Amino acid sequence: MSNKATEDSDLKSRLTEEQFEVTQSQATERPYTGKYVDNKDDGTYRCICCNSELFSSEHKYDSGSGWPSFWLPLAGDNVRTIKDMSLGMVRTEVTCNRCGAHLGHVFEDGPQPSGLRYCINSASLDFEKSDN
Ligand code: FE
Repeated sequence: MSNKATEDSDLKSRLTEEQFEVTQSQATERPYTGKYVDNKDDGTYRCICCNSELFSSEHKYDSGSGWPSFWLPLAGDNVRTIKDMSLGMVRTEVTCNRCGAHLGHVFEDGPQPSGLRYCINSASLDFEKSDN
């Protein structure tokens, strides 16, 4: 069995079906259904697949879109953006730079100072509440 296949079966047993579909098959959770849409706690959002730190509550804001939205990633290098031409649209896909998990898309209608809206599926994230 190849490493990729081993990883897939590990992920399949560890993740929910929705988490697997979103991160491995670019699925999108239905708006307002994700567990972090309204989460206002302080902490760090990690990749559900590889635990890499992706987003901080400091940059989370209410975009009214129904998905967790951030105006900046925690560290630019930890996410990767890729041009996405699927579904007849031109969008910019956001993935985990370490493991390649699909996270969501980034749009240029976010708040200042970045003007960016990282529109991220809750299913791709694991929230770690900060201690203080
Ligand atoms: Fe990852």
